[in-house]
Amino acid sequence: MSTHVARWTATLAAASTAALLTGCGSGDEGTGADSGELTVLAGFYPLEWTAARVGGDLVSVSSLTPPGAEAHDLELAPQDVAAVSEADLLVYLDGFQPALDEAADSEGGDHAWDAGQAADLLAGEADEHEEEEHADEEHAEEEHAHEDGAVDPHFWLDPTRLASVGDALADRMAELNPDNASTYEANAAALRADLEALDQEMETGLSNCSVSTVVTGHDAFGYLGARYGLEVVGISGLSPSQEPSASQLAELATLVRERGVTTVYTETLVDPAVAETVAEEAGARTAVLDPIEGLTDESDGEDYLQVMRANLATLQEGQSCS
Ligand SMILES: [Zn+2]
Repeated sequence: MSTHVARWTATLAAASTAALLTGCGSGDEGTGADSGELTVLAGFYPLEWTAARVGGDLVSVSSLTPPGAEAHDLELAPQDVAAVSEADLLVYLDGFQPALDEAADSEGGDHAWDAGQAADLLAGEADEHEEEEHADEEHAEEEHAHEDGAVDPHFWLDPTRLASVGDALADRMAELNPDNASTYEANAAALRADLEALDQEMETGLSNCSVSTVVTGHDAFGYLGARYGLEVVGISGLSPSQEPSASQLAELATLVRERGVTTVYTETLVDPAVAETVAEEAGARTAVLDPIEGLTDESDGEDYLQVMRANLATLQEGQSCS
């Protein structure tokens, strides 16, 4: 982490020469800053979408996570690692995709940009619901040791944090290509307006819900819950691969019943079996809530804004909001 901060600071200090340095670093093949179009490589969908919105016609953006793949567990082929070293700008999220963190460290150089710096990341919430219900403290601690102290990477599910990342990304692109600074800035402002409108809709739409506990597939919705006053309980941990034990599942089913939760949420890119087990045991329904870690044909919308609005409608129904 500290190396990223150091690099970030050094990059800002060297803003005036950043474009030159990057041109040399990428082999000076005449693409990118020199021709006015930046090649941007993003770690996964929300960063790809944000980079495309901020860069507009002045960037060519691609994502390292293929559509439909689970983003946390990204694996990089040798050509992906090569792409990391050749891009004008790598937009990634430190702590979210371990394979990409490694490539950013080894190949990213000055052009690796950690979106988490602008997103103001928070520590993952300890599972209060289970601590409350456990008379046996030792037991609770043992079960959740894997989540303690972990930073929650899922900032994009709070639209205002994504807007901040858009603004910071415009600054970073302007360092690489100062001639286009005003365009990046205007694009980021338009993005912010869209995200703030979405934020308003969500705030209004979720302000009066009968059920305030949201039980989701993995623990991806902490920022959304914090922003709109909902308590989010993830069935799996901060990564979908952190699956719960049988006793945790039974506790979750109890929590669902006790809190009057009527809907347990599954995800688009993760096997719904575990969430379905909890729902079945507790006599609740399931619905799909999308953490927008990737888009597929099955996504309920064609971009971040559409899928977030679909999530809002799903939550309004599932949490009985009026
Ligand atoms: Zn996730």
